[in-house]
Amino acid sequence: MTDEAIPPSHPRYDSLRTRARIEAGVDAGITARGGLIAQGRGEAFDYLLGEQTLPTAATAARVAAAMLLEAEHPVISVNGNVAALVPDATVAVASATDAMLEVNLFHASEERRESIAAHLQEHGADEVGGFDRDAQIGGIDHARARVDTAGIGAADVVLIPLEDGDRAAALAAAGKREIVIDLNPLSRSMTAATVPIADNVTRAMPAIAAAAEDLRTEDSRSRTALIAGFDADAARAAAESAIRAGVLS
Ligand code: ATP
Repeated sequence: MTDEAIPPSHPRYDSLRTRARIEAGVDAGITARGGLIAQGRGEAFDYLLGEQTLPTAATAARVAAAMLLEAEHPVISVNGNVAALVPDATVAVASATDAMLEVNLFHASEERRESIAAHLQEHGADEVGGFDRDAQIGGIDHARARVDTAGIGAADVVLIPLEDGDRAAALAAAGKREIVIDLNPLSRSMTAATVPIADNVTRAMPAIAAAAEDLRTEDSRSRTALIAGFDADAARAAAESAIRAGVLS
């Protein structure tokens, strides 16, 4: 079913629309086939969350915006699922926070990297990095260790929506502060995160963009206070307990 063919009255409208976008991403050569499976895993958690944003996730999205605005060199890592699902919001976060966009793929492919960069540019991105991959992050195998020298290689804060757990742990060990969006609060990526956002990327990315627009005119002291007041462990625990309790039960 295409995105347009799904009737808004369908009880699972958002979920079906998201699936259609991932399928279209695969057809367009943006999303890897493995991205379909990752989406399925995410959907299971979202189902248990009642497909709603928890208050702690809304707070985390605001803290993420503050952290990107306070960073010296913020970078947003984009993979095939993120590009297919939230290209506009991703570009909006980059432009509101002056963050660099870098394409990073678990299933590395030069062709797909270029398709994703072109897709982001169609959605308004100025520049997309990820092509000068001379920097290395330690602790993982060679191909996946490579990052853009001027991008994640030099970043102090990275937003890594839907990142592979290995890479997220390696980036944290390299001293990067990480903002992770992942519906699974128990994933290795979320455990490594400075700011874990347990929410669907389709809700979290627009929330970060809106918060960044709001916070960019605030002074640095109030943004710093917002970051300092955030409790990552409490946010992870709140998501885990919401999922275990199951709003459906
Ligand atoms: P771990 O971090 O535990 O090692 P993993 O790296 O093996 O996990 P993947 O199999 O790559 O994780 O799965 C992708 C992750 O992305 C899952 O944790 C899933 O919950 C999450 N995910 C998938 N789609 C979305 C989405 N639309 N929004 C938020 N999170 C999502």
